[in-house]
This record gives sequence, C-alpha cells and structure tokens, in this order.
Amino acid sequence: MQISKSKALFEKAQNYIPGGVNSPVRAFRAVGGDPVFIEKASGAHITDVDGNSYIELINSWGPMILGHNHPMIKEAIIKAMENGTSFGAPTAREVEIAELITGMVPSIEKVRMVNSGTEATMSAIRVARGFTGKDKFIKMEGHYHGHGDSFLIAAGSGAITMGAPDSPGVTKGTAKDTLLAPYNDLEAIEKLVLANKNEVAALILEPVPGNMGLVLPKAGYLEGLRKICDREGIVLIFDEVMTGFRLAKGGAQEIFGVTPDMTTLGKIIGGGMPVGAYGGKKEIMEFVSPAGPVYQAGTLSGNPIAMAAGLAMLHHLNSTPEVYATLDSIGDKIVTGYRNSLDKLGLNYTINHIGSMFSLFFTDKEIFDFESAKHSDTALFGKYFQSMLHKGIYLAPSQFESLFLSTALTDDLISQIITANEESLKEILG
Ligand code: PLP
Repeated sequence: MQISKSKALFEKAQNYIPGGVNSPVRAFRAVGGDPVFIEKASGAHITDVDGNSYIELINSWGPMILGHNHPMIKEAIIKAMENGTSFGAPTAREVEIAELITGMVPSIEKVRMVNSGTEATMSAIRVARGFTGKDKFIKMEGHYHGHGDSFLIAAGSGAITMGAPDSPGVTKGTAKDTLLAPYNDLEAIEKLVLANKNEVAALILEPVPGNMGLVLPKAGYLEGLRKICDREGIVLIFDEVMTGFRLAKGGAQEIFGVTPDMTTLGKIIGGGMPVGAYGGKKEIMEFVSPAGPVYQAGTLSGNPIAMAAGLAMLHHLNSTPEVYATLDSIGDKIVTGYRNSLDKLGLNYTINHIGSMFSLFFTDKEIFDFESAKHSDTALFGKYFQSMLHKGIYLAPSQFESLFLSTALTDDLISQIITANEESLKEILG
C-alpha cells in the first residue's frame, strides 16, 4: 500500500498541529504507523489522498449510519446553505428537530441543541447539579463523555488509548466531585451512594459503553441503577451520544426498557455535522436558561446547516424503521462470519456485539468492565489493525473503541470484511 502523500501531510501537520491531528486517536499511535489522510468518502467506502479506498467500519465514529455522503443528507445541506450559514437567532428547523427528537425518544420532553457530545454531557451535569442543589456525580470507569474536565477521570476512548485516563490540567477541586464506579457492579454504586449520602446530583453512564471497546450491561443492571437513583433523588443520565438513534429509534433506553431522567445525544443527530443535544424531563429542563437559572448558551447552537442535516437523517430514521432490522442483520452476518473464522482457527477471542456495534477483543476473557477490557492484547490488536488496513478495511485505530456499521454494507462487502478478518488473524498469529 502506497501512502506517500499521507506521510508527507502528517509530517507537515506535526509542525502546526499538536501531534499532527485534531483528535488524538486519529494519530494511529496505539496501532503504529502513520495515519492515512482522507480525501473523500461515499457509501461504504472512504478514500485517502493516495487513492487507496477502504471499506468503512468506523463511519466517522458513528454518525454515518446510512453510509457516507448520502444523497438525501447532501441535498438537505446544499438547500439550507442557499439561505445562509448562520443567523444566531431562532429558526423553524430548531423547533422541528426538537419536536422530532421528543417524539422519537419519549423520555426527552424538552431538548437543547449544542455543538458536540462534549457540550451535551457538560451541560447535562451542570443542569443536574442546578436541579438537585448537589455537587457530586458518579461516573463509570472506562466510560467516555467527551473532554469536559470533570469527565477526564478514568476516561475511556482516546484518553485510555493515549494512556492518560486521568488528564493533567484537571484540578483536584474538580476531580473530587467525580465519584468513580466500575461498570456492571450495582453493589459498588450502593456503597458509593451510602458514603456520599445526599451529596450525589447525578449518575451518568453510557448505557451500552463503546469507549472501552463495546461492553454490554448485565441483566438487571440498568434497572438496578434506575431504582437506586429513584430512591436517592439522583438524576440518572444516559449518555447516548453513540447509541442514540443507532441501536434503535429510541436508543439503548428503548432496547433495555429503562427510562433515564436525562439523555445526551450527538453523532447521528447531526447527520455528520457538528451537533449534540441534551434533554429530559420537563421539570429538569425548565432549569435551563432562559427558562431557568442554569446558564448554557452557544453562538452556533442550532446552526441551520447542521439542523438541516440532522433533520434529514432523523426524518429518515423515524419514517423507515426497517433501517434497524437491516443494521442488525448486517451486524449479525459480520459477527457470525468472525466467530466462524475464530472457531476455524481455534481461537477463543471475545466478541461483544449489539445491533450495528461490535468489538473483537484480543483476549479469551469475558469483557464486562474497564478492568476486564484491559486484559486485551493491545500490541496484537495493533498488528491486526495494520493488516486489516492493508487489506482495505478501515477500523478504529484502538482496541478500546467499538466499530460502527452502516446500511451501505452490501453482502459482497460483508464477505470481503469476513475474509480480510480471517486472513489478518492468520497473518498476525503466524
Ligand atoms: N459521549 C460519548 C458516549 C461519546 O462516545 C463521545 C465521543 O465519542 C462523547 C460523549 C463526546 O462527543 P464529541 O466527540 O462530539 O464531543
């Protein structure tokens, strides 16, 4: 594979951009080699500046659920642009998207649009604190909620990939209000709540975490959290930035039948444009300025182009429920193919899977929390990643991420992915 243009760009980028990238995992440090620079993407394929084309299994870390550059979304963006790119004043599209979101995710009675998942989670915690009058919140080890200071403690995603789950720059004062618990352990939550009686404003988690690789909730876990939060007056926040509109129209909360008080959203909601949102019960959201006293604002929030892209995406998902059956079937086919290959090769690696998200972990241990995820052989994953890339499959460049499938994956592409996976496994295990 020839990547001379990417190499030259990366070399130049490092002179001007920290680490040469605008988001850490993109630098490929966890998997070795230089990152490929992307020129364009369409459907199931992404193409780099050297002309190499790859089958996409990240899809911009989730948003491109219909594949890249979908004509419907492109058209909506172009049409919106004809009327200007930003007004800093209310628009009809913001009302329409709020109505649509509250219809698709019933636990969200009111919603505020922001520009990223990070903004959504930071704002949600602030609102929960304002609503309850309490300062502390509980966060799960290995879960990632963006790069807000109070979340960069035992954080997943790029933070763990870069070996900095606790980031320097976060003050002790901030860190002391973040209480940590292992995922999938109700007893740990009970202990934490008891030790901090009447001090916990919120419990935030990814209901199905994808930022330490994909991990599934144990039976009764989410229900148990709901009960504890009800009993203790704690605001339960589901961070569905990844799972929202991906696992189902109503996200993980629809699949598992557990209703949070607040939800944070991002990725798919913007159809590939920079968008996030947070919402929840009316009485909580009424605390948000200007309805209430908790301040939160944004010059570009509800941006007309971003709203047009998000609306096109959400209208499609809302009116085409079969999208989810298609995604589930694509996920099933790929994971079944992977499992067959593992059997054939006599390997016992763990695959965690739900719908259109999955992770292949380089360990035979069960992965159910942050500690167990760390059992994975990350060096072997790095070799596997490179081998897949050279076979034209674009994966997340870290063991601690989920893959995200799109409806653009045809049976033929699925076969190519399964074959590449088997060949890569053979190659790296020599
Ligand atoms: N929450 C979750 C669950 C995420 O996966 C992410 C990003 O991957 C975020 C929050 C932060 O979103 P953003 O990168 O848009 O700030």
